[in-house]
Amino acid sequence: MSFLGRVPGSCPNGCEAGEYEVWSFVRGDKDDNLRLALLTGELNLVICDNCRQPFFPDSCLVYVDKRAAMTAFVFPESYRVEEAKWRSKMAEDFKAMKETLGSDMTLGAEPELYFGYEALRQALQGDDDREDEAAVGEWLLKGLKLVPFYVDPAYARSKGLPRYVPLAGPKWSAEAARAGVDALLKANDRLVSFEGWRKLIDAGEKPPARKSP
Ligand SMILES: [Zn+2]
Repeated sequence: MSFLGRVPGSCPNGCEAGEYEVWSFVRGDKDDNLRLALLTGELNLVICDNCRQPFFPDSCLVYVDKRAAMTAFVFPESYRVEEAKWRSKMAEDFKAMKETLGSDMTLGAEPELYFGYEALRQALQGDDDREDEAAVGEWLLKGLKLVPFYVDPAYARSKGLPRYVPLAGPKWSAEAARAGVDALLKANDRLVSFEGWRKLIDAGEKPPARKSP
């Protein structure tokens, strides 16, 4: 499902340019090993043919994870100075990819722009850290008589918040959300990522609900 491409690259020691095989499209929800390689900073790290220096050739990666409603375009760190240019390139490429790949793209999810693998690694690590808290919280919900309000994962990620709001009641209201967050934190004060929901609720915001279960 994921695929490789060949790109030119020259190592930081200034050796003659060679051609290297790198992943250009990764399905994080289907290829656990590749997601793990991203998390450990090894994805697309190649070894110079001449001097054996490891380096990342300049290349672009599209990373898709349907579970997380995520389509990420990763450009080299050095492209950041021309962010506007690459943002419009991303929009163009995304449109073309949706047409050719169809259901393989997370339809409806807006593509996210990253410069450098480290930026994507941090986003994935943040998702994983919050997932740990979300899983602990989920386990407590029933005993606390709280109901999860599942939020659009892309929205939750953009805010750095866990993927649901605990509600003290069957449906969304600011009061039910506030009481739910308070009850969950009272039960376990280490679930700190949920605190961020309070600020949003107090600002009168209702997060968009997750589209599919
Ligand atoms: Zn070299």
